[in-house]
Amino acid sequence: MESTKIHKVIIIGGGPAGLTAAIYAGRAEMQPLVIEGFEPGGQLMITTKIENFPGFAEPVDARELMGNMRKQAESYGTSFISENATELDLSKQPYVVKVGEKEFQTKTIIIATGAKARWMGLESEQKMIGRGVSACATCDGPFFKDKEVIVVGGGDSAMEEANFLSKFASKVTVIHRREEFRASKVMVERTRENPKVEFLFNSVVEEVLGESEGKVTGVKLKDTKTSEITEFKCDGMFLAIGRIPNIELVKDKLKTDENNYIVTETDSSKTSVEGVFAAGDVQDYTFRQAITSAGSGCMAAIEVERFLNER
Ligand code: NAP
Repeated sequence: MESTKIHKVIIIGGGPAGLTAAIYAGRAEMQPLVIEGFEPGGQLMITTKIENFPGFAEPVDARELMGNMRKQAESYGTSFISENATELDLSKQPYVVKVGEKEFQTKTIIIATGAKARWMGLESEQKMIGRGVSACATCDGPFFKDKEVIVVGGGDSAMEEANFLSKFASKVTVIHRREEFRASKVMVERTRENPKVEFLFNSVVEEVLGESEGKVTGVKLKDTKTSEITEFKCDGMFLAIGRIPNIELVKDKLKTDENNYIVTETDSSKTSVEGVFAAGDVQDYTFRQAITSAGSGCMAAIEVERFLNER
C-alpha cells in the first residue's frame, strides 16, 4: 500500500530527539510524520522521575514529560504512527519509509531511533532475564527490597544504578572488570560515600546461578588477574555495561562508527546520505541525556528546513 503523498519530513523515533524535531518541524509548517514505534516515548519511559530536565524546578515524571512533548508536537500539526518502521529505501528521491505493508514517500528523514541496553551475552544471563537479571534498575529496582544485588559495569550508568538500587536493596556490589573506573570522579565519589554500596574489582561474571530455583541465587565470578573462580551470593544482577544504538533500519545505508553509532557531520545532524539526518542516542555515544537528545532533534529539524529551502 503506497501513499502518493510526498512528505516533507518523516521522523523515525518518538523519544526526546524525535519529538523535539517534530515540534520544530511542525512549527515550521512541515506537517511532520513521526513513526514512533510500538513503545513510544523512548528510553525515558523506563525511568521514573527526571531531575535534570531544565524548566522543572521539581522532579518531573518521565511519562508526563514525554506525554507533554507528544501533545506539543501534535498541536503543531504532527501526525503519528504507533508502529515500527521496517525498511528504508534511500536509493533515490523521494525516499521511501516502509511500515509493514504501508509505504510513505518523503523528501527528508530524521533518524531518532535511540539505543538499547547491552548484555554480556552469557547463556545463563539470557535465561534469567526477568528472574533476577535486569538491565534497568529504575524499572526493576523496587522488586529487590531488602535483597542483595550486584551491578556489573564501571561507567556512570553503573554508579547511577548502584545508588538508585541502594534505595531498595540491603546491599549493592558493583562488579567491575578493571581497577580504574570509566565513570566520572564525582559519580564515583558519590557512590563510594554510599554505605550500602561495595566494590569488587578485576572481576567478570562467568555464569548466573539459580536456574533450577527459578531465580538468581548468585553468580560465578572470574578474577581477571588470577583467573580464580569464586561464587558470589546475590538475589539480583543489573547490567550497566553500555548501550547499543538502534541502527537496524540504516545498517549499510548510512555511515556508522566503530561502536555502530550513526556518524553525523561536526556541529550538524547531517548523515552520509543527503537529506537524511540523525538525532539523539543513535548518534551520541558520549552524552545520552534527554536534554542533549532534544537539542540534537531541534538541530535536525532546523537543518531539514534549510535543506528543503535550498531546493
Ligand atoms: P560506558 O561509559 O561505556 O561504561 C560501560 C562500562 O561497562 C565500562 O566500565 C566497561 O568496562 C564495562 N563493560 C563493557 N562491556 C563489558 C562486559 N562485557 N563485561 C563487563 N563489563 C563491561 O557506558 P555507560 O556507563 O552506560 O555511560 C555511557 C555514557 O553515558 C557516558 O558518556 C556517561 O558519562 C553517560 N552517562 C551519564 C550519566 C550522568 O551524568 N548522570 C549517567 C549515565 C550515563 P571498561 O571500563 O573496562 O571498558
